[in-house]
Amino acid sequence: MTMNKELTPESNTLIPYIAELRALFNGRVVGPNDAGYDKARAVFYGGIDRRPAAVIYAADVADVARAIALVRDSGLELAVRGGGHSLAGHSATEGGILLDMTGFKEIDIDVEGRTAWAGAGLTAAEYTNAAGAYGLATGFGDTGDVGIGGLTLGGGIGLLVRKYGLTIDDLLAAEIATADGQLLTTSADSHPDLFWAIRGGGGNFGVVTRFRFRLHEVDQVVGGMLILPATAQTIASFVALAKDAPDALSTIANIMIAPPMPFLPPESHGHPIMMLLMVYAGDAAEGEQVIAPIRALAPPLADMVRPMPYPEIYRFSEGGPSPVEDVTRAVFLDTVDRSLAEEIITRLRASTAQMSIAQLRVLGGAMARVPVEATAFAHRHRPMMAAVVALYEDAAQAPTHEVWADGLAAVLRQGPPGVYINFVGDKDPEGVRAAYPGATWERLAAVKARYDPDNLFRHNYNIPPVGATNGQ
Ligand code: FAD
Repeated sequence: MTMNKELTPESNTLIPYIAELRALFNGRVVGPNDAGYDKARAVFYGGIDRRPAAVIYAADVADVARAIALVRDSGLELAVRGGGHSLAGHSATEGGILLDMTGFKEIDIDVEGRTAWAGAGLTAAEYTNAAGAYGLATGFGDTGDVGIGGLTLGGGIGLLVRKYGLTIDDLLAAEIATADGQLLTTSADSHPDLFWAIRGGGGNFGVVTRFRFRLHEVDQVVGGMLILPATAQTIASFVALAKDAPDALSTIANIMIAPPMPFLPPESHGHPIMMLLMVYAGDAAEGEQVIAPIRALAPPLADMVRPMPYPEIYRFSEGGPSPVEDVTRAVFLDTVDRSLAEEIITRLRASTAQMSIAQLRVLGGAMARVPVEATAFAHRHRPMMAAVVALYEDAAQAPTHEVWADGLAAVLRQGPPGVYINFVGDKDPEGVRAAYPGATWERLAAVKARYDPDNLFRHNYNIPPVGATNGQ
């Protein structure tokens, strides 16, 4: 792609070229001098405040190819944005090109064949509502507004994980625009090395325009949110029950000091609570039976668990916090006994952030039955994952909250090092390497060298190509 004048990364602005870009792209192009620029560059975390040279809303595959050509020729940084929920700020760029994929919303459901081609700009809730209309589902995460793009490429751990595995375990194919401008369809039979790598290797290999997923019959589930007082006993017993439960039950426990939420009794405010989001994907009567001992752990502070259409599970993430600053630390662990549970509560009480959460996910089931080497997600056999989160407003307080999060993460971490890539923040000391140990890293770097030898897709959880000197 050529411009009238020479454009270099040093020029750090495309303002003189915005009109030319508008003529080139089918989708909307927003520059720093345009009305709506601040809205166009915004992402989920309000504290990520970067000023791209241009925001390009890709209207079609040709726009994606043009954007890739533009960054190849200019050397500008490329940020790809789906749902905009990157913890590491990868869907924002200072002075680069922000390629917005939210125009890719088409979903084509083959009800008989139980598959769907889904545009990479869909959110988890949009996909789930569309598939749910046929009583079908693919598992994504716990939050409806998260994009299927970033979530899928990193692995995808949600409320069907024990029943049907990671999101990537239902990925059948993807269309991806690579660094050389080609649009490839990758699957187990077509570019299988690339297909292996995009199942966990993130945005390193190109821009995905659409995904083909397997769908499961998931119509009515027993699910929703149960809020219990968090004590050493309720936390440890919950973990034991969730681990012993049939694979049909997947759970996410958010332990925190109760904020003054209207649906919580006022006397619980300021005390430790455990917000359990759960889905039993199976027979309703069986589901009630499996959940009964969890309900019986303590008199519930709120009980919103009931038979419901699966898409309703995303109602519980609606109206969630709009965080400014965030520190997240994720670790894998084996179990939580009473003394560890006690430690979690003590440390949550000590946090000075606006909101601090220790999130526990019991894994296993279908996720663990896929061989480790089948995809680039290397930590399938870990029994549990924990994420420590502090949300706060004053960026100057970052060091305090990082120390707090590192401390709780260190206490929770068990077994060999490892991290789920999608939960890695930009200053996470575990970093990218911990997500991809040993052979996984080497294989990813080799695939990267084949499809992106110049590391054009580098503003991500970067895997430098083998032999590259410019990797970061
Ligand atoms: P974006 O910020 O839009 O994208 C992040 C990066 O992904 C991009 O910079 C790019 O590198 C890559 N990417 C995105 N789309 C494309 C594309 N089309 N082609 C190529 N690369 C692309 N994860 C879970 O597994 N389970 C959960 O339950 C879960 N819950 C979460 C809840 C919240 C509130 C948040 C903030 C995150 C959660 N996550 C969860 C993590 C989530 O999976 C990652 O943050 C993911 O990157 C978000 O995807 P996105 O499309 O919204 O992000």
